[in-house]
Amino acid sequence: MNKRTFLQLAAAVTLGFSLTSFGQESKPIRVLLVDGQNNHSWKATTPLLKQALDSTGRFNVEVSTTPPQGAPADAWAAWKPVFTSYDVVLSNYNGQLWPDAVRTDFEKYVENGGGFVCVHAADNSFPEWLAYNRMIGIGGWNGRTEKSGPYLYIKDGESVRDLSPGAGGSHGDQHEFVVEVIDQKHPITAGMPPHWKHAKDELYDSLRGPAENVKVLAYAHSPRSGRNEPMMMVIDYGKGRVFHTPMGHADYTLKCVGFQSTLQRGTEWAATGKVTIPLPKEFPTAEAALSRE
Ligand code: ZN
Repeated sequence: MNKRTFLQLAAAVTLGFSLTSFGQESKPIRVLLVDGQNNHSWKATTPLLKQALDSTGRFNVEVSTTPPQGAPADAWAAWKPVFTSYDVVLSNYNGQLWPDAVRTDFEKYVENGGGFVCVHAADNSFPEWLAYNRMIGIGGWNGRTEKSGPYLYIKDGESVRDLSPGAGGSHGDQHEFVVEVIDQKHPITAGMPPHWKHAKDELYDSLRGPAENVKVLAYAHSPRSGRNEPMMMVIDYGKGRVFHTPMGHADYTLKCVGFQSTLQRGTEWAATGKVTIPLPKEFPTAEAALSRE
């Protein structure tokens, strides 16, 4: 090899390396959004969840739709999402139990470091699937009681695990409510106003579950339960990170700027452990909700 060829080769290698590292830095986060069954209009909410993520330019979102309720076994056998092809899975699913093989894959995926984001009624799913309930920390309805685990709420800034008997999961009439951020050091909530008004939503209360390794970042005071109910949670499950928000009932809820920001940052954190997505300049205040199309 003469000197010129060597220099050309060295330059090419250097360029190749720098392109590779730049490429890795800016590589979009791969999101798998699962829907297909829900007691909510998932056909209306999935596009809004996707759009909230897409608008940041940080994500590449694919949607995997399960077979419908009552579908034959061969339809379920054909639904085999490859979770490991994604950095994070986001569930907008509340329905029948996934097949054993899919559940095993999903458990392994999160255990081994995959991210998971649970939105609103996704925490109603799978009362009988222990690993799922350990991932989401707490959930509601579908027969959940004190046997599912403690009712988790916040009192004087601290988590309370209430083991007294009762049903898991309830809500009153929908209304706007103030989200109280109690952890402003976590990457998801860093810089977020400590009190901001969320758009009209169902305020879930009395959620129950294993409640292991749960850190509550924000709560809202429920007039129905009289308690401070978790609204943003992070959960460690194996090597995986889980972000869980019980907010997000309907299309109008998902237009809340505060919700969108929460979703974007929670999803980035679940995928990477970091948050680079800035908060928008205009944000809901303690007095006024703020929505955008
Ligand atoms: Zn709802």
